[in-house]
Amino acid sequence: MPRREELEMPCYVTTNKPASREDYKLWCGMGYTGSYRDYEAVKKRHASARIFMCGDMALQHCADCIQVGDYLCDYPVGDGKTCDRAMCDTHAHEIGPNLHYCDSHHAEWRRFVDAGGVSEHLKNVTAFKGA
Ligand SMILES: [Zn+2]
Ligand SMILES: [Zn+2]
Repeated sequence: MPRREELEMPCYVTTNKPASREDYKLWCGMGYTGSYRDYEAVKKRHASARIFMCGDMALQHCADCIQVGDYLCDYPVGDGKTCDRAMCDTHAHEIGPNLHYCDSHHAEWRRFVDAGGVSEHLKNVTAFKGA
């Protein structure tokens, strides 16, 4: 069942705030289910970036649920671009260091692996890193 009271909570932006138990509690209130250590890691990674805790800010929100979209899909989609689907811990599939695929691309990647095409594929992924 959707947790409507959370969906209707007002948006807010957090900028470069140090990690704190209180802030973590706030995240949990927004539907974040990661551990405190996960939360701290997110905080560090976004130290200089603004984090939008709002369903309308699709880029910073998991595309598949209400949680914070901490990961972007790194699956290459051509023209030097990646899928960039925002994903939370639950929906991101880690396939390598700092490489995450969304549900559908992970399934596609699995097919690549099964077909023996993984090394060529990973070469592409590496080329797009750091963009
Ligand atoms: Zn999610
Ligand atoms: Zn994807």
